[in-house]
Amino acid sequence: MAATIIDGKAIAQQVRSDVAEEVAAWVRAGHAPPGLATVLVGDDPASAKYVAGKQRASAEVGIEGFDHRLPADTSHDDVERLLRDLNEDARVSGILLQLPTPPQVDGAALTEMIEPAKDVDGLTPISAGLLAKGRPGLRPCTPQGIIELLRRHDVTLEGAEAVVVGRSDLVGKPVAALLLAANATVTTCHSRTHDLAAVCRRADVLVAAVGKPGLVRGDWVKEGAVVIDVGSPTGDVEFEAAAERARLITPVPGGVGPMTIAMLLRNTLLAARAQWT
Ligand code: NAP
Repeated sequence: MAATIIDGKAIAQQVRSDVAEEVAAWVRAGHAPPGLATVLVGDDPASAKYVAGKQRASAEVGIEGFDHRLPADTSHDDVERLLRDLNEDARVSGILLQLPTPPQVDGAALTEMIEPAKDVDGLTPISAGLLAKGRPGLRPCTPQGIIELLRRHDVTLEGAEAVVVGRSDLVGKPVAALLLAANATVTTCHSRTHDLAAVCRRADVLVAAVGKPGLVRGDWVKEGAVVIDVGSPTGDVEFEAAAERARLITPVPGGVGPMTIAMLLRNTLLAARAQWT
């Protein structure tokens, strides 16, 4: 295998340690700790596990947790009231509404009412608009985590051909916008793209965010390319064959996955700072 493996677990741990140090310095300077409010409606086990992971990680870096768990039959209006309170609560720097919500609760509409300054998931239309316009704002966690992996490996993005496979609001579109902001030449591919293989072969930086295991074949990877596989729980890239040609590659698991919570913690700190100034 030729490629160097990008160790997302180790980089995520570095980010978490950096955030812990910065939170400690912030508190030493006399500020209240950043606060992360999570709102979980119902008892879906996977969602409960995600929320618990986010709260545990927050506590580890000194972020104060506000863990709201509401019964599955909570009305839309009651969740809306809670979010309004959290928007107003000065102890809360960031708010996360865990999706999906039960059918009587319109999760998409409620996400949109999160105060943009507290949108630590970076997924509201305001945050997406700020990103699209290249204005400061909170960026979505997984895409920002991808940029962090590239940055920590000194990957040159300026002028690079970047190809993103996938155009979701969660990953594909924002990562393409972040790559563009870093002055890469970006192509976004999707299910209607003609000759995906040929487009991928152009990429100096290839990001696969599809959710189709092994869709990106090893021989679609240009010699010396950097390959970022977002697919989860199974990678979108044919790993062994791609690693023969790539210069750098993320594994699944242990690549992009661990970065998401790390960037959420960083966003919560950034939100606290921005709300103070
Ligand atoms: P999504 O909303 O389902 O979007 C998938 C995208 O892939 C769509 O834009 C779709 O195109 C495109 N696509 C589907 N089949 C294709 C094909 N044959 N050729 C080219 N493009 C194709 O998925 P997502 O939320 O972005 O997630 C993508 C993957 O990342 C999943 O495996 C997910 O589990 C993973 N993920 C991981 C993390 C993490 O590690 N922290 C976070 C988020 C997501 P159309 O738009 O044309 O339908």
